[in-house]
Amino acid sequence: MKEGTEISGKNHSGKVLLLDLDGTLGLSLIPEEDAISETLKFISEELAKRLGRTIDEEEMRTLYKETKNEQYKIYHLNPKRHDKNLRWMMLLHKLENKLGVRLPESFYEEVKERYWSVFESKAEPYPDTKETLEKLMEKFTVVIVTNNDYAEAQKKIKLFGLKEGEHYDALVTSEDFNVCKPSPEFLKKLFPFLEQKLSRIVRPEHIVIVGDDPKNDIAWARTIGAKAIRVKRDLLAKHDPSNESEKADHVIENLSELLKILDKV
Ligand SMILES: [Mg+2]
Repeated sequence: MKEGTEISGKNHSGKVLLLDLDGTLGLSLIPEEDAISETLKFISEELAKRLGRTIDEEEMRTLYKETKNEQYKIYHLNPKRHDKNLRWMMLLHKLENKLGVRLPESFYEEVKERYWSVFESKAEPYPDTKETLEKLMEKFTVVIVTNNDYAEAQKKIKLFGLKEGEHYDALVTSEDFNVCKPSPEFLKKLFPFLEQKLSRIVRPEHIVIVGDDPKNDIAWARTIGAKAIRVKRDLLAKHDPSNESEKADHVIENLSELLKILDKV
């Protein structure tokens, strides 16, 4: 989020699209899972090689899950709960305690590097992402709103080949307001930001939320009665809504379908 830059000069509908990033604008959740698996395997192999200690894949996976749960609990609705570097650090601390060893600092770096290099080799935009965003920019205010911190959001935006001013008007991360979706607090803080950016009043009826996550995007939209469009792709494509508030107004499989739907909502 940049201070003091206003979005103006557009002859558009007045609608503000809040687009999620992961799984919505590109494939990133399955690549994350792949990167986690490969990194856990790397840690296992290195521990066997360097320390002669064997921790099998299943045990590593359990440790990872425990670590993630702890991180989510400690940093409830806080941007830090999604911080992958922090998660790998927490996991390695756990391993050190379990094995009664001290792992070198360089190993911590290698683990993080492994994770990000696998992730970067696999994450990609959907084929229609850039073209769709360019067209949406002609009619709507396009804001990317993500639970990622700023650095991770920037990394993914770069991997998806997106440019501010060309594919989106503004990027808002959980770090900007120190809160995560689906907290209504996030939207409460977002409104004054949008109003300042657009130099006009923004109401819930101006907002359309687009995302792949039934809870973090669709149910989040419902907290202010905004329209919600579900993009059924990536890892969460198979997740069914678990309650009424997670049901979207429209479900699409390709981002380009937005161009037709948005005239109707
Ligand atoms: Mg998402």
